[in-house]
Amino acid sequence: MLKSFFEQFADLIYKQKCVVCGCSKTNEILCKNCLKTVQNLSPFAQKKIEGVNIFCAFKYDGNIKILIRNFKFNRRKNAAIPCARLLYDYFKKVCEQNNLNLNPQNAVITCVPSHPLRVLKRGYCHTELISREFAKLSGIDTDFKIIKKVKNTLPQYKVRANQKAKNVRGAFKICPNHAQGKTLILIDDIVTTTATLFEVISNLQKNSYNDIICFTLAC
Ligand SMILES: [Zn+2]
Repeated sequence: MLKSFFEQFADLIYKQKCVVCGCSKTNEILCKNCLKTVQNLSPFAQKKIEGVNIFCAFKYDGNIKILIRNFKFNRRKNAAIPCARLLYDYFKKVCEQNNLNLNPQNAVITCVPSHPLRVLKRGYCHTELISREFAKLSGIDTDFKIIKKVKNTLPQYKVRANQKAKNVRGAFKICPNHAQGKTLILIDDIVTTTATLFEVISNLQKNSYNDIICFTLAC
C-alpha cells in the first residue's frame, strides 16, 4: 500500500531506533545485525504442561531479552510488530516440522492477558498486541474474551520460587464455549517457571478447552 505524504514525512523525522545498538539506518526496532546473534530454538516442543505442547521461538537471553524488556517496560509499543513477525516465522517452521495444519478454519488465537490495571499503567496489553499482529500475518482470528486476568498479581520474577504457583492461583477467569471445535493457539511472551501457563492451561481444560497449542516468544 502507498504511504501517505504525512506517513512518509513522519518516517523521515521519526525513524525507529534499534533497542540494542540504537542505530536507525534500517528503521527497525531490532536491526538486522542485532537480530543475527539471537539464539533460535528448535521447532519442537520445549515444554509440555498438562499434555499441552509449549513451543518457544528463542532463548530468553541477549538481544531478544532486551527487545522483550523494552516492549514490556519502556513503552516500545511498536516492538509488537517484530515480535509477532519472529513468532510467526517460528510458527511456520513448527507447523512444517510437526505436520500441523493450523489455519483460519480450524484455529483461534488467544493470549495470556495482563490485568486491566497493569494494562492501564503500561498503556497496552503486550501479549494482545503480539497476538493481533500474529493474526494479521496468519489470517487466523483472535478471541480475547476467553481468558481474563482477574487478580492483579505480583510479577512472577518478584516472587520466590516456592510462592510462584500460589501467586497466580485463581488469577485467571475462563469464559467457556468459545472457539468450539477449533484448536486454541495460546500466545505468551516468555515462560520462565511454568506456574502461570500451568494455571491458565489447567483452567482452560477444566472449561472443556481440550485442543490447545502454546507459542511463546522466549523461554
Ligand atoms: Zn541493532
